[in-house]
Amino acid sequence: MSSTPDAATFPTLGLRPELAEAVAALGYEEPTPVQRETIPLLLEGRDLLGQAATGTGKTAAFALPMLHRLAEARPRARQTCGLVLVPTRELAMQVAEAMHKYAKGSGLSVLPLYGGAPMHQQIRALERGAQIVVATPGRALDHMRRGTLSLEPLIMLVLDEADEMLDMGFADDLDEILKATPAGRQTALFSATMPPRILAIAERHLQSPARITIARE
Ligand code: AMP
Repeated sequence: MSSTPDAATFPTLGLRPELAEAVAALGYEEPTPVQRETIPLLLEGRDLLGQAATGTGKTAAFALPMLHRLAEARPRARQTCGLVLVPTRELAMQVAEAMHKYAKGSGLSVLPLYGGAPMHQQIRALERGAQIVVATPGRALDHMRRGTLSLEPLIMLVLDEADEMLDMGFADDLDEILKATPAGRQTALFSATMPPRILAIAERHLQSPARITIARE
């Protein structure tokens, strides 16, 4: 089978069979451009700075490699090894829901954490264990300060819609969260726009990132 970008399929991008099967079951016939570019880089362990809007298939572009890398690492049930930070409650629910579907055959747990929902339920869910957390920055920080969320085991971090997170005033929260993660983690930052303050965050927190730009479809 050819591995030219045009002929790319989810398995030829290097994804574990259970992930390729999960997306096939959802009716995804072939990877979108952002998925073709992003998935191999993230599977290699590279940091990534991606300019891509919603609607391009960006969620699967980071979610599938995160699930792949975590499945390979075989984390203990209670360790949070994957974290996705998003600007809003709605996006947290949407991304967690998508990841939950992609994770069907992987046995990895996905938990959304956002403000406005009862703290005690989230704490109980964290006690049961969540290998992947999809959170708004404020609520993630709340849990970290209470000691109910530890990012010490983190393998991979995604900042999704980073420009929106900054617009919503989460810059300090992001810095504090990033400081609590291990230096060796892999980081992907996605943003619809790349103003200087996003580039400054990338400069501080990403290591020799690959850069990709995908136009809105
Ligand atoms: P996103 O840009 O991540 O919000 O995704 C936009 C929509 O495209 C979602 O409804 C996804 O389920 C869908 N989608 C993502 N990747 C694919 C694909 N490779 N083939 C078909 N649909 C996809």
